[in-house]
Amino acid sequence: MTTTPLQDLAKSLHNCQRCKLAKLGRSQVVFGVGNPHASIMFVGEAPGANEDLKGEPFVGAAGKILNDLLQSADLSRDDIYIANVIKCRPPENRDPELDEVEICKPFLLQQIQLIRPKLVCTLGNWATQTLLERKVGITKVKAQAFYMKDFVLFPLLHPAAALHQGGLLDTLKADFKKLKEFLDRNTKPAESASAASPAAPTLQIDPPFPTQMDLF
Ligand code: URA
Repeated sequence: MTTTPLQDLAKSLHNCQRCKLAKLGRSQVVFGVGNPHASIMFVGEAPGANEDLKGEPFVGAAGKILNDLLQSADLSRDDIYIANVIKCRPPENRDPELDEVEICKPFLLQQIQLIRPKLVCTLGNWATQTLLERKVGITKVKAQAFYMKDFVLFPLLHPAAALHQGGLLDTLKADFKKLKEFLDRNTKPAESASAASPAAPTLQIDPPFPTQMDLF
């Protein structure tokens, strides 16, 4: 049976031993799930206990919040692809360490290259700073579009922030509303749909004009 390059990449990481997390209690590599042709990808930080058990990103309490927020933006998990910066659970859910990010980041970049999303929504500081390649606080850059070379980056607060600070749920809801507005502005109706084979509307993001202001 032929496999896709994305499946081959997942296979190449099976039982990965490239960083110390392999020996620090993770039970499996959590590669990513969703539509391999998605035009929208979400990127979190690292698997937690539930994700480590199930082998899928965002299946615990933060995942429940994410599902509700996706629904509020008319998105479902079947439309999108979800992955993390770090593919293995750090012990006690501690923050990822720099060497772990350095080792795992190329695999996230390969996932993005293979899926070719038009929009990448980073969830929280780690994913945002990793893909923006700048040490900038999430509250300064959230809910805005950053036009990168191959995709548009749209940073959002991490859904787990609402678990620790209930008031942030309203902020997350407002930011997902901005995401929906951005998607609505950039989704073009199908041009040559026929009754027999109706084409789906497509996300088509034009470069900003004039050039984006430097926010840093
Ligand atoms: N938090 C993340 O960043 N990723 C997950 O997969 C789950 C919780």
